[in-house]
Amino acid sequence: MPSYVNPEKCDGCKALDKTACQHICPNDLMVLEKETMKAFNRDPSMCWECYNCVKICPTQAVEVRGYADFVPMGASATPLRSTDNIIWTVKFRNGTLKRFKFPIRTTPEGAAVPDGGFPTHMDLKGPALSTEPASLGLPEVFTLKG
Ligand code: SF4
Ligand code: SF4
Repeated sequence: MPSYVNPEKCDGCKALDKTACQHICPNDLMVLEKETMKAFNRDPSMCWECYNCVKICPTQAVEVRGYADFVPMGASATPLRSTDNIIWTVKFRNGTLKRFKFPIRTTPEGAAVPDGGFPTHMDLKGPALSTEPASLGLPEVFTLKG
Protein backbone atom coordinates (compact mmCIF):
# COMPACT_ATOMS: atom_id res chain seq x y z
CA MET A 1 0.00 0.00 0.00
CA PRO A 2 1.44 3.40 -0.92
CA SER A 3 1.48 6.26 1.54
CA TYR A 4 -1.88 7.48 2.76
CA VAL A 5 -2.43 10.75 4.64
CA ASN A 6 -5.03 10.62 7.37
CA PRO A 7 -6.77 13.99 6.94
CA GLU A 8 -7.90 14.00 10.55
CA LYS A 9 -4.29 14.03 11.74
CA CYS A 10 -2.65 16.20 9.04
CA ASP A 11 -2.38 19.88 9.95
CA GLY A 12 -0.63 20.93 6.74
CA CYS A 13 2.53 21.45 8.78
CA LYS A 14 0.90 24.57 10.13
CA ALA A 15 1.03 26.34 6.77
CA LEU A 16 4.79 26.32 6.41
CA ASP A 17 6.14 27.14 2.94
CA LYS A 18 6.89 23.52 2.20
CA THR A 19 5.54 20.72 4.33
CA ALA A 20 7.78 18.12 5.90
CA CYS A 21 6.43 15.34 3.68
CA GLN A 22 6.95 17.47 0.55
CA HIS A 23 10.50 18.20 1.64
CA ILE A 24 11.45 14.57 2.23
CA CYS A 25 9.74 12.57 -0.54
CA PRO A 26 12.38 11.38 -3.02
CA ASN A 27 9.71 11.09 -5.73
CA ASP A 28 8.17 14.52 -5.12
CA LEU A 29 4.77 12.91 -4.62
CA MET A 30 3.36 14.85 -1.72
CA VAL A 31 1.32 17.95 -2.38
CA LEU A 32 -0.58 20.26 -0.10
CA GLU A 33 -4.20 21.05 -0.87
CA LYS A 34 -4.19 24.73 0.05
CA GLU A 35 -7.89 25.08 0.68
CA THR A 36 -8.09 22.29 3.22
CA MET A 37 -4.42 22.46 4.30
CA LYS A 38 -4.18 18.69 3.98
CA ALA A 39 -1.43 16.83 2.17
CA PHE A 40 -1.94 13.90 -0.14
CA ASN A 41 0.02 11.55 -2.36
CA ARG A 42 -0.64 12.70 -5.93
CA ASP A 43 0.48 9.49 -7.63
CA PRO A 44 0.27 6.41 -5.41
CA SER A 45 1.50 4.20 -8.25
CA MET A 46 4.90 5.96 -8.06
CA CYS A 47 5.29 5.53 -4.30
CA TRP A 48 7.94 3.00 -3.37
CA GLU A 49 6.86 2.92 0.26
CA CYS A 50 10.19 4.20 1.53
CA TYR A 51 8.64 5.43 4.82
CA ASN A 52 10.40 8.81 4.66
CA CYS A 53 7.16 10.76 4.86
CA VAL A 54 5.89 8.43 7.57
CA LYS A 55 8.94 9.07 9.73
CA ILE A 56 9.16 12.83 9.24
CA CYS A 57 5.48 13.72 9.71
CA PRO A 58 5.20 15.57 13.06
CA THR A 59 1.59 14.49 13.57
CA GLN A 60 1.93 10.84 12.55
CA ALA A 61 -0.61 11.45 9.81
CA VAL A 62 1.03 9.34 7.10
CA GLU A 63 0.57 5.60 6.96
CA VAL A 64 2.21 2.93 4.84
CA ARG A 65 1.55 -0.77 5.24
CA GLY A 66 4.02 -2.68 7.37
CA TYR A 67 6.21 -4.88 5.21
CA ALA A 68 5.83 -8.59 5.83
CA ASP A 69 9.58 -8.84 6.42
CA PHE A 70 9.44 -6.83 9.63
CA VAL A 71 5.86 -7.17 10.90
CA PRO A 72 3.30 -9.93 10.35
CA MET A 73 0.71 -9.28 7.66
CA GLY A 74 -2.05 -6.96 8.73
CA ALA A 75 0.00 -5.21 11.40
CA SER A 76 0.65 -1.48 11.33
CA ALA A 77 3.96 0.16 12.22
CA THR A 78 3.95 3.76 13.41
CA PRO A 79 7.16 5.67 14.15
CA LEU A 80 7.71 8.47 16.63
CA ARG A 81 11.00 10.31 16.31
CA SER A 82 12.79 12.33 18.94
CA THR A 83 16.20 13.99 18.79
CA ASP A 84 18.20 10.83 19.41
CA ASN A 85 15.86 7.87 19.04
CA ILE A 86 12.89 6.48 17.17
CA ILE A 87 10.12 4.44 18.72
CA TRP A 88 8.13 2.09 16.49
CA THR A 89 4.69 1.11 17.71
CA VAL A 90 3.52 -2.09 16.10
CA LYS A 91 -0.14 -2.96 16.28
CA PHE A 92 -0.91 -6.57 15.45
CA ARG A 93 -4.12 -7.82 13.87
CA ASN A 94 -5.33 -9.11 17.23
CA GLY A 95 -4.88 -5.67 18.79
CA THR A 96 -1.64 -6.44 20.64
CA LEU A 97 0.70 -3.44 20.85
CA LYS A 98 4.48 -3.65 21.00
CA ARG A 99 7.00 -0.82 21.07
CA PHE A 100 10.61 -0.91 19.93
CA LYS A 101 13.06 1.90 20.60
CA PHE A 102 16.25 2.43 18.63
CA PRO A 103 18.95 5.13 18.67
CA ILE A 104 19.17 7.23 15.50
CA ARG A 105 21.97 9.04 13.74
CA THR A 106 22.59 12.50 15.08
CA THR A 107 24.73 13.70 12.16
CA PRO A 108 23.73 17.27 11.31
CA GLU A 109 21.78 17.64 8.07
CA GLY A 110 24.13 17.90 5.10
CA ALA A 111 27.13 16.66 7.10
CA ALA A 112 26.90 12.95 6.26
CA VAL A 113 29.91 11.53 4.43
CA PRO A 114 28.44 9.34 1.68
CA ASP A 115 31.31 6.86 1.61
CA GLY A 116 31.78 6.91 5.38
CA GLY A 117 35.43 7.83 4.82
CA PHE A 118 36.23 4.44 3.31
CA PRO A 119 38.26 4.23 0.11
CA THR A 120 36.01 3.80 -2.91
CA HIS A 121 36.27 2.26 -6.33
CA MET A 122 34.20 2.55 -9.51
CA ASP A 123 34.18 -1.09 -10.58
CA LEU A 124 30.53 -1.05 -11.60
CA LYS A 125 30.61 -4.60 -12.96
CA GLY A 126 32.24 -6.12 -9.91
CA PRO A 127 30.37 -7.87 -7.09
CA ALA A 128 31.29 -5.32 -4.41
CA LEU A 129 29.72 -2.04 -3.39
CA SER A 130 31.94 0.98 -3.96
CA THR A 131 33.34 1.03 -0.40
CA GLU A 132 33.87 -2.72 -0.16
CA PRO A 133 35.88 -4.61 0.97
CA ALA A 134 37.19 -1.87 3.31
CA SER A 135 33.76 -1.08 4.77
CA LEU A 136 33.25 -4.77 5.52
CA GLY A 137 36.54 -4.92 7.39
CA LEU A 138 37.70 -7.65 5.02
CA PRO A 139 40.81 -7.96 2.85
CA GLU A 140 38.63 -8.88 -0.16
CA VAL A 141 35.02 -9.54 -1.10
CA PHE A 142 34.62 -13.28 -1.07
CA THR A 143 32.76 -14.72 -4.05
CA LEU A 144 32.21 -18.21 -5.43
CA LYS A 145 35.14 -19.04 -7.66
CA GLY A 146 34.17 -20.92 -10.85
FE1 SF4 B 1 0.42 16.77 6.89
FE2 SF4 B 1 2.31 15.29 8.04
FE3 SF4 B 1 2.61 16.14 5.53
FE4 SF4 B 1 2.79 17.87 7.53
S1 SF4 B 1 4.19 16.15 7.13
S2 SF4 B 1 1.61 18.16 5.61
S3 SF4 B 1 1.27 17.07 8.95
S4 SF4 B 1 1.06 14.69 6.28
FE1 SF4 C 1 7.30 9.52 -1.09
FE2 SF4 C 1 8.42 7.49 0.23
FE3 SF4 C 1 6.27 8.73 1.23
FE4 SF4 C 1 6.01 7.18 -0.93
S1 SF4 C 1 6.62 6.51 1.15
S2 SF4 C 1 5.14 9.23 -0.66
S3 SF4 C 1 7.98 7.55 -1.99
S4 SF4 C 1 8.33 9.63 0.93
